[in-house]
Amino acid sequence: MGFNPEKHAELLEELRPYKAMLVAVSKKKPAEDIVSAMGCGQVAFGENYVQELVEKKETVSSKAEWHFIGHLQTNKVKSIAPFIRLIQSADSFKLLKEINKEALKNNRIIDCLIQVHIANEDTKTGFSEEEAEALMLFSDLGELKNIRLRGLMGMASLTEDRQQIKREFDGLRKLFTGCRMMALDHECFDTLSMGMSSDYKIALDCGSNLVRIGSALFGERG
Ligand SMILES: *Cc1c(COP(=O)(O)O)cnc(C)c1O
Repeated sequence: MGFNPEKHAELLEELRPYKAMLVAVSKKKPAEDIVSAMGCGQVAFGENYVQELVEKKETVSSKAEWHFIGHLQTNKVKSIAPFIRLIQSADSFKLLKEINKEALKNNRIIDCLIQVHIANEDTKTGFSEEEAEALMLFSDLGELKNIRLRGLMGMASLTEDRQQIKREFDGLRKLFTGCRMMALDHECFDTLSMGMSSDYKIALDCGSNLVRIGSALFGERG
């Protein structure tokens, strides 16, 4: 099936009034699909697996911008630290410290989002709302000079119940507003990443400004 240019154009139209960014989630899809997407002007790609990301990065144009959106093990941070644009899935303070350390080694500042657990399933990793607030207020975040906190990321429950999805996204939106006020740099804390192929319309209406879309663009993953 491969990359769908019509769907891509349609999505960009839909996102425009919300001024939301599109991250094309290319996990488990071949590099050719990424090349096709880049031919349509898509620049930002999301990947979940470090090894796969590093291989693709070597293959496709250096103009691509890579977002990490999966669970990141601390011992893998060094492989992506030289080039990663945004780590959307920072799910522990330990991981943030490691990202800071590797960013420093690479003489760069790495943008990160705090992943918050909003779904009612326990399979999804991330901070709880309370932990996210505690991180903003009480941790030594300010000492991590080589990371820049840009906002929050969350995934809603896998359910047909749109009201539940809306409640979860509304909750994350509220938390985002609160965390933004607590952030050391409010101006920089500007990204609310929520919404995937099945629920991005709800997410946009709840205030998302970054959607992560995979299967709607590239077809179902095997
Ligand atoms: C796979 C994935 C997506 C994209 O999911 P689709 O349903 O294919 O759009 C978005 N965000 C995260 C964190 C993912 O792991």
